Amino acid sequence: MTALRPEVAEFDRDGRPAPEAVATDGEGPGLVQLHESIATLLASRGQWRQAYQHLRSAFDLVYADQDDQPQVPEQLRREVDRLRREHAEAREQSLRDSLTDSYNRRYLDERLVDIVAERGSMAAGLAIALIDLDWFKQVNDNFGHLLGDRVLQRVVELLQEDLPEGGFCARYGGEEFVLVLPDVTAAAAVEVTEAARLRVERHAWASLAPGLRVTVSIGLAYEPPAGDSSTRPPVAPEQQLLRADSLLYTAKQSGRNAVAYRENGRVRLAGAASGRRGIAEPRVAGY
Ligand code: GH3
Ligand code: MG
Ligand code: MG
Repeated sequence: MTALRPEVAEFDRDGRPAPEAVATDGEGPGLVQLHESIATLLASRGQWRQAYQHLRSAFDLVYADQDDQPQVPEQLRREVDRLRREHAEAREQSLRDSLTDSYNRRYLDERLVDIVAERGSMAAGLAIALIDLDWFKQVNDNFGHLLGDRVLQRVVELLQEDLPEGGFCARYGGEEFVLVLPDVTAAAAVEVTEAARLRVERHAWASLAPGLRVTVSIGLAYEPPAGDSSTRPPVAPEQQLLRADSLLYTAKQSGRNAVAYRENGRVRLAGAASGRRGIAEPRVAGY
């Protein structure tokens, strides 16, 4: 049987072994092992599709050799399991933000597409909240960038607490995050985002650094359920995010550390902030 030395195997641009690399003495098991090793090498390079093709070839060779029910070699089975696991992990990693471990923009975009497709079956509406840390540049300036990073991680933990089923947090970029709450009523959306804001305000920040205080401002845009006859046609999530951004601006201009939302066409601040005077107009007319 041809000895297998993956370190000398050559590949073409598609990850297929060059002809001289597959030269064997014609025995099936040698080829099977060759395919396995090539798959291992390709997987270690992240070339999942080609690795899969080689594992399939190994399977086909094994099956072709057997008259009865073929026995899948244990090593091959383990290899496939490992590849599947690694692939699932790589996919999960590609959807996470490396600093805060919250979901990232790619996940947000993908989920929003799914949520739009599911909206017809939702009894309640869709809430999208854009969250921005207040005076965060000062946190970095006064306490250092590393401490700033830890603040972002802690904020994500606080935002993710107690979300309703299906709700999630994603990092939108920099010190901005998005909360998506599918299938919630308008009142529940205000309650959940205001509770998140309060958790951040009341957190024991001084335990990270004496004198540290952190608050967030939130713009909450709500879309009623599809088919609600009293309203206009549902807007796309990108549009809803624009509205949330405009309401976030209102929350900032109205003193920060507040949730701004619309109720019956009027802009309001949630919770204790509702008593503030001079709520700023949204940045974009009509939003
Ligand atoms: P405002 O209340 O108006 O939002 O003020 P701000 O200081 O939070 O806003 P500004 O946009 O001036 O500053 C945002 C800061 O966020 C600047 C940037 O360095 C910091 N930042 C963005 N991403 C990160 C990060 O990953 N880690 C740290 N430590 N800082 C970050
Ligand atoms: Mg910002
Ligand atoms: Mg900010």
